[in-house]
Amino acid sequence: MDLKPSEVASVLKAEIEGFQGGMHKSNVGTVLTVGDGVARVHGLDDCMMSELLDFGNGVQGVALNLEEDNVGCVLLGSDSKVKEGDQVRTTGRIISVPTGLQMCGRVVDALGRAVDGKGDIPVGPDDLRPIEGRSPTVPEREPVKQPLQTGIKGVDSMIPIGRGQRELIIGDRQTGKTALIIDTFINQKLTGGGDPNNPEQVICIYVAVGQKQSTVKAVVEKLEQYGAMPYTIVVSAPASSEASMQFLSCYAGASMGERLRDEGRHVVIAYDDLYKQALAYRQVMLLLRRPPGREAFPGDVFNLHSRLLERAAKLSKAKGGGSMTALPVVETQEGDVSAYIPTNVISITDGQIFLESSLFNAGQRPAVNAGISVSRVGGSAQIPAMKKIAGGLRIQLAQFRELAAFAQFGSDLDKATQQAITRGQRMTELLKQPEFEPVPVEEQVVVLYAGSSGALDEVPLNRVAEFEKKYLAHLRANHADVLASIRNDKKWTDDLQKQCDQLCAAFKKEFLA
Ligand code: ATP
Ligand code: MG
Repeated sequence: MDLKPSEVASVLKAEIEGFQGGMHKSNVGTVLTVGDGVARVHGLDDCMMSELLDFGNGVQGVALNLEEDNVGCVLLGSDSKVKEGDQVRTTGRIISVPTGLQMCGRVVDALGRAVDGKGDIPVGPDDLRPIEGRSPTVPEREPVKQPLQTGIKGVDSMIPIGRGQRELIIGDRQTGKTALIIDTFINQKLTGGGDPNNPEQVICIYVAVGQKQSTVKAVVEKLEQYGAMPYTIVVSAPASSEASMQFLSCYAGASMGERLRDEGRHVVIAYDDLYKQALAYRQVMLLLRRPPGREAFPGDVFNLHSRLLERAAKLSKAKGGGSMTALPVVETQEGDVSAYIPTNVISITDGQIFLESSLFNAGQRPAVNAGISVSRVGGSAQIPAMKKIAGGLRIQLAQFRELAAFAQFGSDLDKATQQAITRGQRMTELLKQPEFEPVPVEEQVVVLYAGSSGALDEVPLNRVAEFEKKYLAHLRANHADVLASIRNDKKWTDDLQKQCDQLCAAFKKEFLA
């Protein structure tokens, strides 16, 4: 095509004359190097930390390293479409994800895009939220005092979790960490009937980081099977996805939770697991040539987890009274909780649930080590009835463990010791619980009371589980008023105690006959 210089000049003139202002300020740079999912870009002087960058061809990146003469960024997606010398534009936006109740029941990736094959998720203009948010200040918060019932007897009685708390689930591989989360999610159906639009319904978010896709699929299937999926959002960043997606997924999940928290809802979010998130972060940072520190993690790996977990909060009434409870998971190697990442996360959270392989393999499932697990919020996150009957449980069990270890060596024990062992054995048996069967708090109260009051001492050890099941069925069928009174009044009165004693004694007679 021939172009005469005069024509070019006239075209330019017309363009300039027709220019309407409204100029969009955009900083343009060029790609210096690209590879392994990271790129270095020259010329982006006004780039912000965590700013979304546009590489063209539909490829986006996030600025993570702001250096004097270049910007290091991770690519969200494949790096095969980006080459040296390409132009890069800043967008003026911090990386954002869609949020809102319409995400419930869906499986999304770290950018909030549906990956469950059920079609796109509608995103309104106000639904986008930056993935890094300011965590609530102290005056905006309120003490944690409302229970988040997990439905697991050993947890709700001795390691109670409150709404807005951060409770770490820590243990070796295959010790039932994920199972604990699934049970907690299933149990939330009791709060609002499983309808996400019911303001009482606790919304659940499961962030799967660096897991096998098949494991994530199995979790989603279980949640679906037990009716927990309608009020659950699953954020999936499997091991096969880019390392950047894996470490960003936790923040994406947190933003989805925060939106609902700020609207006055109650949210529980599980990060499964933060060790894998730290590995992904380390990978990205080493590629960006950040100096490695202890265990080759970058120096700010503590901040990676603290700024994430700070976002869990119980908000004050003035702020709507919503809450976000965080259940981070950390996998340990050979039970070593003194490694770098476990100690970091232990020091950030308000308590830990230790799961142990030895207990798990001995059949004590959930494999919670009640001796060293703690919840620093404690009894204020329990209903008064549970607080009353579970108060002495921890000591009772600790005494039992000591006596049991001692009793292995001899057979002539005095009566008191023998009785403590008998009761401890029954309590230990009662704390076992199959998967996917969370127990409502009022039922927990009556069976744990029966055990700790000694009513089960005459029940043979191998029939304790059967006793529990039948006793509860009996109460549900014939004495629903007792259960309802605990559920609604949340109190444990002398009258109620007497009534439970009588009911249990009468049932035991029948059961043992
Ligand atoms: P990973 O380290 O692989 O993520 P994990 O610690 O998350 O493992 P899970 O996958 O939850 O562990 O559980 C491991 C196995 O133990 C599963 O097969 C699960 O079905 C079983 N399991 C977990 N909890 C219980 C329980 N309370 N009763 C019986 N089986 C259980
Ligand atoms: Mg798991």
